[in-house]
Amino acid sequence: MIAQVNASSPAAYLALFESGELKWRVEIAREMLRSCTACPRNCRVDRLADKFAVCRTGRYGIVSSHFAHFGEEDCLRGRRGSGTIFFSGCNLRCVFCQNFDISWQPKGVPAPPEKLARMMLDLQRQGCHNINFVTPEHVVPQIIEALPPAIEAGLRVPLVYNTSAYDSMESLALMDGIVDIYMPDFKYWDGEMARKYSRAPDYPQVARRTIQEMHRQVGELVFDEEGLARRGLLIRHLVMPNDIAGTQEVARWIARELSPNTYVNIMAQYHPAGKASAREFAEINRRISPEEYELALDAARRAGLKRLDARRSF
Ligand code: SF4
Repeated sequence: MIAQVNASSPAAYLALFESGELKWRVEIAREMLRSCTACPRNCRVDRLADKFAVCRTGRYGIVSSHFAHFGEEDCLRGRRGSGTIFFSGCNLRCVFCQNFDISWQPKGVPAPPEKLARMMLDLQRQGCHNINFVTPEHVVPQIIEALPPAIEAGLRVPLVYNTSAYDSMESLALMDGIVDIYMPDFKYWDGEMARKYSRAPDYPQVARRTIQEMHRQVGELVFDEEGLARRGLLIRHLVMPNDIAGTQEVARWIARELSPNTYVNIMAQYHPAGKASAREFAEINRRISPEEYELALDAARRAGLKRLDARRSF
């Protein structure tokens, strides 16, 4: 039986705003930028002074686009779309990044708090069911700063934190009670693969820790009476050629350490992008086969996972 909440249930952040706690979070978030530890890279650059490091993002988040997105999971896009805000720059260096043009070299408009707040309100006005922050790991402080002006101007829809899972525990502590739906990737099981393809050998251990914390904060995914996600955890796992992602181990860990009722999207849409080519990283220079995808789905089922996203991209 899948838990349900009322569509009119308030978004999580409203209670923090009303209690005054959100104001304090903004202060702590700004301080975090002074010697940046917003993600596990711990670069300690002064982003308040517009310095930047791995993520190539200084004082303000850079937004490459914001629009009603109809390509997300059905429970997020609904009938009127998921209000996605795509942040440019990234703290990972995935050689096959499907958004390579904006992740490796930031492109877009700097978004100080009021501007970012206006984007959220604009998406809510268009009827989007939620605000979906894509690649937010390196701009958690900037998102938090933008919330008070957005809420004062009427923001009410749930917030989706659409992350690689390469997050810091400090950032997640700041997001506790703000995020309604955590949507982390679980990219790799093996640290050597994470080093080779994303320059982050600690990715698997970081992802296990952060996804456990996300689960602790919001629990299993719950829907409203229209089938829209209202709160909880939704894990995405992109199946890679030659089982580079380690699907079976990932699925087993989710079922064992979180719950067999965790909502998981086993994704088939990998395609070569970025640096993946016949010359470099040739082993991932192809799409996955239908057989590879079926094996991945089978591994997830055998691990005991009961809530697999139903949409198929083959
Ligand atoms: S958010 Fe950017 S500057 Fe801060 S620690 Fe991560 S990569 Fe470094």
